[in-house]
Amino acid sequence: MTVEGSVARVVDELEGFPDPDPSLEQYETPGEIVLAMLNVADSEVGIEGARVLDLGAGTGRIGIGAALAGATHVTCVEVDPEAAEVLKRNAERVGVDDRIEVIVEDVSGWDPEPDGYDVTVMNPPFGCRRRGADRPFVEKALRASPLVVSLHRAGTEGFWRRRARDLGATCEVVGMVRFPIKASFGFHRKPVEFVDAVVLKFERG
Ligand code: SAH
Repeated sequence: MTVEGSVARVVDELEGFPDPDPSLEQYETPGEIVLAMLNVADSEVGIEGARVLDLGAGTGRIGIGAALAGATHVTCVEVDPEAAEVLKRNAERVGVDDRIEVIVEDVSGWDPEPDGYDVTVMNPPFGCRRRGADRPFVEKALRASPLVVSLHRAGTEGFWRRRARDLGATCEVVGMVRFPIKASFGFHRKPVEFVDAVVLKFERG
């Protein structure tokens, strides 16, 4: 089973961040990248009928994508209440709100139910603004689910392999993407800049 390409198109039409906050690294994941990540999760555990976790869910592009691909329960954790409102509207608009739970909380303080999920699929902040911002995301995700598919800045994979070992997991690069960052913030000069990113697969042993 692979996730249908139409999921990417629906994701690309979702409402975006009303007022992106640079300190939270609020960037939307393009539908094609969401699709690629969901397909990694799908080939490992099968998204259909799965319980999926999305940390730093933003406007819901990954979580809603997972629900569209057949996940039966998706928990989205997002610190920004405004983004969470957009997420809820997006979920309603595409008719998956009955399968999406939204938790407005800082991931660092959130306590997941151990193994409450089959898989986590997420695009956390890259830590460009605040070094290590993505660390609590991976730690919480690996407690919540035995498999984590996650997007990180290219070049951090060595760090993540070592960190994964400390957490009793393996870490493998399963994809490389150029992540577009729209210049919605004052300090960016070009209209779109690309950041090299890697899709990492973490698996607890
Ligand atoms: N997952 C979304 C958004 C990615 S941007 C997508 O793929 O389109 C990263 C998101 O993480 C933003 O929505 C930001 O508000 C959120 N975020 C940043 N730090 C956070 C924290 N400590 N706890 C929870 N969410 C956080």
